[in-house]
Amino acid sequence: MGKPSEMSDEIFECTAAWHDTYSDTMVIKCSDGRFAEPTDEFLRSIGVTHPDRFYLPGGPASMVKESASQELDLQKLAFLVEGHATKRIIALAHRGCGYYHTKYPRHKETERQQKQFEDLREFKQQADLRAPGVRVELYYIEKQQDNVTVLRIS
Ligand SMILES: [Zn+2]
Repeated sequence: MGKPSEMSDEIFECTAAWHDTYSDTMVIKCSDGRFAEPTDEFLRSIGVTHPDRFYLPGGPASMVKESASQELDLQKLAFLVEGHATKRIIALAHRGCGYYHTKYPRHKETERQQKQFEDLREFKQQADLRAPGVRVELYYIEKQQDNVTVLRIS
């Protein structure tokens, strides 16, 4: 029996590990790939190795009241939490986020940052309602002169 004609002969063989079980941790962050590797490094530093990833423009900002997609995105969050028995959610916002630049084009960066902190806290309130019992941690990641830092938001 041959393969379907639309399949090519080019096959890439992965060497990275596949995990047999779901992670109990979900990461919610912006799609912005510039922060992908620093985020993964940070996650490993707090013991998170293969989390579920919910990456979308603005990250947790899509699940606050002002977001047009709030309800749909919260439903997706609840779907994943229920299906994978999530116990921990890590929500990150980042400096220079295009989502906030588009939404608040006339604001100063410090004002946008303040709004991001407020949105992170509101996201936690929403997540607490939709996923009771799940621990939610909030972080802000930013590029400094020579490196990238992650700040925990309380
Ligand atoms: Zn962003």
